Amino acid sequence: MRLAIIKRMDDWIATTEEALRTAGHRAGGARAALIDELARRDCCRSAQELHAALRARGRSVGVATVYRVLDTLVELGLVQRVEIGDGISRFEAAVPSAHHHHVVCDDCGKVEAFTDVSLERAISVLPAQLGYDIVAHEVLLRGECGDCRAA
Ligand SMILES: [Zn+2]
Ligand SMILES: [Zn+2]
Ligand SMILES: [Zn+2]
Repeated sequence: MRLAIIKRMDDWIATTEEALRTAGHRAGGARAALIDELARRDCCRSAQELHAALRARGRSVGVATVYRVLDTLVELGLVQRVEIGDGISRFEAAVPSAHHHHVVCDDCGKVEAFTDVSLERAISVLPAQLGYDIVAHEVLLRGECGDCRAA
């Protein structure tokens, strides 16, 4: 796996296609459509949402196929599984240049992305402090969004 070469979404699409091919997954319209759907999103979606979006675009992809391909891509490190504590797994393309974190509204359930340079800097010194070889990190903030606070 050459994850290091993934810099942009185009690289992600190419690497993902190749990884699935190597993993023995049959090339097919369903698979390509799901990869395309993930590439269009800048943040996470549930398997059901991805499935609905594919259907809305006229792609008849079975929900079981969506789950199966997503599981494979998570295993390969090409898709990030995002858990916000509501029991629904969400998925997004794992693109280092698009690295971000999530803030969740506990009232309306909205999930938004955020990035913060000083947060990343603070996290980057932790491996040495902890004596760990850190390969990934997640930060999840939760609370009440501006819309819900205003309502
Ligand atoms: Zn996201
Ligand atoms: Zn809200
Ligand atoms: Zn981060």
